[in-house]
Amino acid sequence: MKKLHSIKGTHDILPNEIHKWKALESIVNQTCEQFGYQEIRNPIFEETRLFSRSVGEETDIVTKEMYSWEDVDGASLTLRPELTASVVRSYIQHNLGTLSPIQRLYYSGPLFRRERPQKGRQRQFHQFGVEAFGSNNPEQDVEIIAIAWKILSLCGLANDTTLNLNSIGSNECRNNYRTALKNYLSPYIKDFSKTSQHRFDTNPLRILDTKSEKEQEILNDAPKISDYHNKTDSTHFESLKEFLKDMDLPFSINHKLVRGLDYYTGTVFEFNSDNLGAQDALLGGGRYNRLVETLGGKPTPGIGFAAGIERFLIAMEQSNFDAKKSNPDVYFVCAENKALSRSIVISSRLRSLNLKVVSDTLRRSMKSQLREANKLKVKFALILGEDEINNSTITLKDFTKGTQKTIPQSEVMNFFEDLTI
Ligand code: AMP
Repeated sequence: MKKLHSIKGTHDILPNEIHKWKALESIVNQTCEQFGYQEIRNPIFEETRLFSRSVGEETDIVTKEMYSWEDVDGASLTLRPELTASVVRSYIQHNLGTLSPIQRLYYSGPLFRRERPQKGRQRQFHQFGVEAFGSNNPEQDVEIIAIAWKILSLCGLANDTTLNLNSIGSNECRNNYRTALKNYLSPYIKDFSKTSQHRFDTNPLRILDTKSEKEQEILNDAPKISDYHNKTDSTHFESLKEFLKDMDLPFSINHKLVRGLDYYTGTVFEFNSDNLGAQDALLGGGRYNRLVETLGGKPTPGIGFAAGIERFLIAMEQSNFDAKKSNPDVYFVCAENKALSRSIVISSRLRSLNLKVVSDTLRRSMKSQLREANKLKVKFALILGEDEINNSTITLKDFTKGTQKTIPQSEVMNFFEDLTI
């Protein structure tokens, strides 16, 4: 059979890198819980219309990146390309809003987008994120940004990261701005790329995202969305900026930041890394005050962010974040077949003390078992050889101190109980 491989754009997370994932996951879980957020886990696939309705029919995700298929019963299903839509669907379906006027949720898991794979861009990737439903106040915005900032800081990334902030305002503001932007761009649009020309007709705000330097130069003199904010938009945005200043949380206003998805309203933000090259967006989010209603729920304001775990890990590697490997505490060296039964019993008792205990199941020589213990960087080896079996003793090798002693088997548990590893 021809050698099997993982699909292009998907990656195995191997045992030698899992400690980094766990370190990040533990920072995320602890931080979210500190802010009173509770975890939610949603299915990997959903009805296709959930995403086309929320993310937007004209977005890149919906037009070309979704893994969709027709199920046996004819239903169109899709591997989730993002998680906010699923969380909102779940919020509505389970009436979470009736449990409390404010719902604070966090998640992490795999997502699927058929993008061109490159460093920091995969077809199956992972995100963690938070969503808060119920409050339309700027203190809710600052809470969400503060969670992101705390996670970035604990990951050692705060110094190499810029918070880009904008407000895309209310519906009224965006409608007026759309007209103004189109008026400004109409003399130039014939020389713009096909993508920008298409966006000019379908979603002109997205032209602000263009990667073309020539187009960006023209956009530098375009009208700014902030000039079209109504009173409520600007009061909200000003308060958010004040709160961020009070927290000494540095930010930079980026008038061209609109974010790719249709559901955003008001505050939008992105944390960009200085060390990630082309795919520099570590984390992005914003307000989506109309999304719950669009998906069939009661009008409910919402705000959240999503962060790419793979990109976080690349950035953490570059900033030399020290993720500790989880090595076993004890390696059980069993040098005699007739000692196997004792070794199994003692190992099992030691595990009941919450110790990580590994023993050999290959019946290798004592020398190779000790070599393995060394390789695994354990703190202790326990050795049961012929002498030990005959005398009901056990030899204890302490790798950290470089010492060795033989004790009665009956004292093993006491020894480890008194120890704080
Ligand atoms: P988005 O859901 O597009 O706003 O993306 C939020 C974050 O997810 C980005 O800032 C990235 O860190 C990450 N991300 C998005 N798309 C990919 C991808 N194809 N591969 C890896 N990470 C991604």
